[in-house]
Amino acid sequence: MERFSASERLKMEYAQVSLRQQRIFNQSLAFPSASRLAPLVASRCAVRRPSDSLGAQWALHLSPFPQHLRPHWGASNKPHESKHPRRKCLSSRVVRPSPSRVDSASLSYEVFPFGPKEARAALLAEEEEGRYGEERRGPLTEPPGQDLSRRGLPAGPLPTRRPRPTREPAAKAIPGKWLPPGPWDQLRLPPWLVPLHYELELWPRLRPDEFSSPTLSFTGRVNITVRCAVATERLLLHSLFLDCESAEVRGPLSAGPPDGTEGRVPVDDVWSAFDMQYMVLELGGTLQPGSRYELQLRFSGLAYQDLREGLFFSVYTDQGERRALVASQMEPTFARSVFPCFDEPALKATFNITIIHHPSYVALSNMPKLGQSEKGDVNGSMWTVTTFSTTPHMPTYLVALAICDYDHISRTERGQEIRIWARKDAIANGNADFALNITGPIFSFLEELFNISYPLPKTDIVALPTFDNSAMENWGLLIFDESLLLMQPKDQVTDKKAVISFILSHEIGHQWFGNLVTMNWWNDVWLKEGFASYFEYGVINYFNPQFRTNEIFFSNILHPVLSEDHALVSRAVSLEAENFTETSEINYLFDFFTYKKGASLVRMLSSFLNENLFISALKSYLKTFSYSNAEQDDLWRHFQMVIDHQSKILLPAPVKSIMDSWTHHSGFPVITLNVSTGAMKQEPFYLEKVKNQTLLTHNDTWIVPILWIKNGITQSPVWLDKSSKIFPEMQVSDSDHDWVILNLNMTGYYRVNYDELGWKKLTQQLDKDPKAIPVIHRLQLMDDAFSLSKNNYTEIETALDLTKYLAEEDEIIVWHVVLENLVTKDLLFDVNNYDMYPLLKKYLLKRLISIWNRYSTVIRENVAALQDDSLALAALEKLFEAACWLGLEDCLQLSRELFKNWMKHPENEIPSPIKSVVLCNGVAFGTDEEWDFLLNMYANKTKEEERIQLAYAMSCSKDPWILHRYLEYAIIAGPFTFNETNIMEVVAESEVGRYIAKDFLVNNWQAVSVRYGTQSLLTLMHVIGRTISTDLQVTELQQFFGNMLEEHQRLTLHAKLQTIKNKNLENKERKARMTAWLRKNT
Ligand SMILES: [Zn+2]
Repeated sequence: MERFSASERLKMEYAQVSLRQQRIFNQSLAFPSASRLAPLVASRCAVRRPSDSLGAQWALHLSPFPQHLRPHWGASNKPHESKHPRRKCLSSRVVRPSPSRVDSASLSYEVFPFGPKEARAALLAEEEEGRYGEERRGPLTEPPGQDLSRRGLPAGPLPTRRPRPTREPAAKAIPGKWLPPGPWDQLRLPPWLVPLHYELELWPRLRPDEFSSPTLSFTGRVNITVRCAVATERLLLHSLFLDCESAEVRGPLSAGPPDGTEGRVPVDDVWSAFDMQYMVLELGGTLQPGSRYELQLRFSGLAYQDLREGLFFSVYTDQGERRALVASQMEPTFARSVFPCFDEPALKATFNITIIHHPSYVALSNMPKLGQSEKGDVNGSMWTVTTFSTTPHMPTYLVALAICDYDHISRTERGQEIRIWARKDAIANGNADFALNITGPIFSFLEELFNISYPLPKTDIVALPTFDNSAMENWGLLIFDESLLLMQPKDQVTDKKAVISFILSHEIGHQWFGNLVTMNWWNDVWLKEGFASYFEYGVINYFNPQFRTNEIFFSNILHPVLSEDHALVSRAVSLEAENFTETSEINYLFDFFTYKKGASLVRMLSSFLNENLFISALKSYLKTFSYSNAEQDDLWRHFQMVIDHQSKILLPAPVKSIMDSWTHHSGFPVITLNVSTGAMKQEPFYLEKVKNQTLLTHNDTWIVPILWIKNGITQSPVWLDKSSKIFPEMQVSDSDHDWVILNLNMTGYYRVNYDELGWKKLTQQLDKDPKAIPVIHRLQLMDDAFSLSKNNYTEIETALDLTKYLAEEDEIIVWHVVLENLVTKDLLFDVNNYDMYPLLKKYLLKRLISIWNRYSTVIRENVAALQDDSLALAALEKLFEAACWLGLEDCLQLSRELFKNWMKHPENEIPSPIKSVVLCNGVAFGTDEEWDFLLNMYANKTKEEERIQLAYAMSCSKDPWILHRYLEYAIIAGPFTFNETNIMEVVAESEVGRYIAKDFLVNNWQAVSVRYGTQSLLTLMHVIGRTISTDLQVTELQQFFGNMLEEHQRLTLHAKLQTIKNKNLENKERKARMTAWLRKNT
């Protein structure tokens, strides 16, 4: 599964894109990837945690991981607030959890007189009415910079209206009864039964002329052949929101297929243990170990529109008509909401799937169509019954189906048919051609690389109109959001081809990593996601030898995860399965660490082996565990076998010891080299390290491969396998011209610090001949130096010294890192920086002019030339934003030109990479004419992403009355509803807007809290109070907000304001030092 689109990675996760942009992307592009949504239960439980400081808490928000799953949770961090309160509310309504699981006295124990599906519908209806908390009343209300919390916390579109079903289901919750403790309290299935085969029939009632309801009912039958491993009188299997209509158990079975003569084990009762999502069958007899049985279940359920959990349906427009389709998303734990099953990745089985659908639709599943017949329903309507061939041995999370009225294009690669299915318009326009052209070659490349043929006879790839910017690797039926698969004619200046190539490579990589060899359980999900993410780069590099793998890997993967992986607040890549207690925790695993850290660790592993060894070990692993499951240690064992059979590469320890030191630890080390002595040491990286303080969360050390260069020449690798070591070969003296850089090509997952002399040598080399240092290392030096200085590992002056050569820097990605660190958002939106601004302006403009001229010429003359330069596309916006902010006349001029042309010809879009900045400048330097024009455009746009972009741009005005009117429009009464984002926050973010918003709030706080909820007032406090640095300001804000907040919010107010103040004081000190440095060097 691919969670983040490559465009998102490039645009947003690259460094700290300006807050304004970040919010636009966060809200429009994809964090809440619904394919990874927790079950609804959990998704509604995603309670935003209030922030304690603007900066340091980011990581908390990024890593909403329950505390007990964090191996190195440090005392200096705020504990999480209570986990999923909503989940408890919900589960308690159906069946009270066992007392040990209840840890909050405030739960109300209602018991619904009906089953789980009804409970769900009722809950949704209540949620809609806002009964359970206020954060859902309005759009997003995170404090500034904290939108990223949504990365791990699922959220997503809810169906708009849901009827409350009244039918009494066959599988009942136990009303009013306490459940005794039992196996239903456990997250993992008891080992009583092993599923062997599923006969699954699904019948969603989708008709081409009838899809106005927000739900769609489906019925199904499943016969599961199981082998009994432990004698039992009770069966547990997963089932969520399904009504069981009937349940029978036949057996023991004789050797052949069931023929109706086998015995029967009576089923006395069927009930739902909702908390762990089980269906429980109480039997009137005992199943015998070694015997096979067949469970025969009939069930029904509801599919929701665009919910992306289990079975769902989407309504879209094609050929000018409204149409609907049904599709599925089972990973990780949604199969159980489509059919009762043994929903764990190691419980692989074969599947015979049958889909009943309207004759006007085509049905697709993992395997090729086997046959078709007709069937009448009770109303006399005819339906088509499509059966599919038997799947290979596979886990439930890979079961897939789609029922749609699509066209397709196809091609045969090595005798196997590849078809891409999409809206008829899209197919007719050739939008799927690019994807089809590259899919076959990617399959062939990976088949050859791993020397294992793709085992399925066909591949279908379906482009859904909305799939939340994600894609899913279901075996034989890959499902994509169409924005990640189809080229649009208007995709002039985007990196769309790169995006499609990345995501396709990722999902095709899963056909081996995940589908063929599956992790034993979700705790090792990085085994598939880390490798699939890593091989994206191998595939693309193979087809595009010009591809700048190191720089793009840095930009897409390494930089974002290093920025967030802090030993104290993040989690290890591989976790202990035993530590998981709730289903929703599985969803949290699809995060940064699984994907990006996973891929980074794989890359580091391949860097200290050679390519041959790396691939042979993987071949051996894939072959051994084909159609089966593996855990991390299995992988290391295969690497060890390969290493033991050669003598060229010598490792300081077994592969398992080396890699465990990385996969079982959160965070990463800072490696410091003293070039005068050759002494090297390692220590964990902490956010804002306190000088001379040792934190004891990391007793262990990492076993660190040190690949390095001296004077541009690659040296023999060494290992730092303890806390410190001396490497005489790394010494340089003050008098010679040598320089040393550790972490060749940034393949190691760590940051590097040097002593004063080491940094001085590098600064001198940059001043003398920057090109002697490869681009990736110029990036590295800037990124490491700024990050380390920000967190007290080195001085800010060290980082600033490195930037003196920048007039000679013609790589926009290096500039990007520098600008992200120098033209920060608090500088952009804070008038208190009046002393620093003119100095910075002078210092940067002198150096920036050459790179500016280069890119402004491209924008003016041939913007399409940027199309394939994803690094430039990712970095351009920051360059543009900074140049205009620094007052570069040519930038302002270009901005005006582009805006004016667009006003004259709105059909000629502003180049997308710089559109947000141009719109913002257009409004900031314009009058109400420009503003009204934007409002008009806003009214005519239907895409949320575009509306958010315009809503933000409108807040860029510097006219107090325009901003005030904007707030009136948004909150009190106006021509439009502005539902996409919280306009109060948007306005309050700008320097002028801060005062307007504050004033507006005084007079209208009741209207604001009605519109956005009282929770949003807390967020506003963060935004408005972001610059405070004195006690007087704290008191003033406290009084200001005190009247508006509720009692419990008031209690934490003071502490929060103090935290902001202290943080600002620290920043002030840093800024003062920067200002002093600039004064000296300008
Ligand atoms: Zn994936």
